[in-house]
Amino acid sequence: MDFRLDEEQQALRESVREFAREVVAPTIAEHYEQHTFPYEMVRQMGKMGLFGLPFAEEHGGMGGDYFALCLALEELARVDSSVAITLEAAVSLGAMPIYRFGTEEQKAQWLPKLLSGEALAAFGLTEPGTGSDAGGTRTRAVLDGDEWVINGSKAFITNSGTDITALVTVTAVTGTRPDGGKELSTIIVPSGTPGFTVAPGYSKVGWTASDTHELTFDDCRVPAANLLGERGRGFAQFLRILDEGRTAIAALAVGLAQGCVDESIKYAKERQAFGQPIGNYQAIQFKIADMEMKAHTARLAYYDAAARMLAGEPFKRQAAIAKLHASTVAVDNAREATQIHGGYGFMNEYPVARFWRDSKILEIGEGTSEVQRMIIARDLGM
Ligand SMILES: Cc1cc2nc3c(=O)[nH]c(=O)nc-3n(C[C@H](O)[C@H](O)[C@H](O)COP(=O)(O)OP(=O)(O)OC[C@H]3O[C@@H](n4cnc5c(N)ncnc54)[C@H](O)[C@@H]3O)c2cc1C
Repeated sequence: MDFRLDEEQQALRESVREFAREVVAPTIAEHYEQHTFPYEMVRQMGKMGLFGLPFAEEHGGMGGDYFALCLALEELARVDSSVAITLEAAVSLGAMPIYRFGTEEQKAQWLPKLLSGEALAAFGLTEPGTGSDAGGTRTRAVLDGDEWVINGSKAFITNSGTDITALVTVTAVTGTRPDGGKELSTIIVPSGTPGFTVAPGYSKVGWTASDTHELTFDDCRVPAANLLGERGRGFAQFLRILDEGRTAIAALAVGLAQGCVDESIKYAKERQAFGQPIGNYQAIQFKIADMEMKAHTARLAYYDAAARMLAGEPFKRQAAIAKLHASTVAVDNAREATQIHGGYGFMNEYPVARFWRDSKILEIGEGTSEVQRMIIARDLGM
């Protein structure tokens, strides 16, 4: 068991760290304040190859693996989570379903632009009436000749309404299974298809420089060939995508937790109270020591989940543990980092205010903490 990074992994981590510090840190606060999407950063991340990290070179990828993506997400989130979630959703939820389940034609049509970051894809699973209970999907798709006719709506879909969004993969009920249950399938809906409407962006508590919309489908017609993978395999497909995604969200949460440590150390050394830096007080040192312990153990949890995934072993429980633990740790560290900053921690000009606002969604998105506990308990035979 060796969790040390090899030279290539260290080089990737260093280059993303430098990008986060030199490019993201100086300007992200303005995007966050104005709720604007950081197109220029996305363009630069595309040039760095980040959108192609876990994909084979034959499809325009970088030939890396899912762990490489996690390392990049951790380093980005150490500085900002809107940028990190934009990459996470684009790769893990957007391009990955096409890479894993698409036909050769679908891969050839979409992957080159998605893997270069020139275009983004979104993943439309959640609906206004159902999230955790994804089997409760109400969006329907009916085959009419050689077209699917889609009706329904999706809620909270990341990267679905940017100027460079190319498509959304939509889960829909396409029939009834022999056992009477819903037959769920996944269909590719290109942006701009008539009948596909993207609502204005939500007003969010955090991740305000990322792109999130409600989507509606009103007699929206796409070719029958836009079915992604086998008909009726929609449920199995998104379970696989979400197991991987949980590992990626855990990495993102570790980044935020570590960013809280970074900012707290810096501030504790500068801020004076009662004649000396607050970092001289053991009460502050112990807070920071606990924060570091939590970030470290959460990192080991996602390294473990990713290692099992790459070895082709079952990793569902480990991914749920990593996501549950890392998101809890992110919220804890954001709260403590804000406390260490005192009143300035409540001011948006300090990065910890962003960390605080961005941390809570980590306990909700890609499966709430309750859902992670359900997965772990089920895997333990309960
Ligand atoms: C900013 C943002 C971006 C998102 N991006 C995407 C995206 O790109 N694509 C996508 O498909 N979705 C996306 N989501 C949706 C996200 O995955 C869901 O919000 C999440 O899965 C929870 O679903 P819900 O909001 O419907 O909550 P609900 O499922 O309604 O849950 C409400 C509460 O009930 C609890 N609960 C539910 N069932 C049980 C149970 N059986 N036992 C105990 N407690 C239970 C939940 O844990 C939660 O606390 C995004 C959400 C946000 C906020």
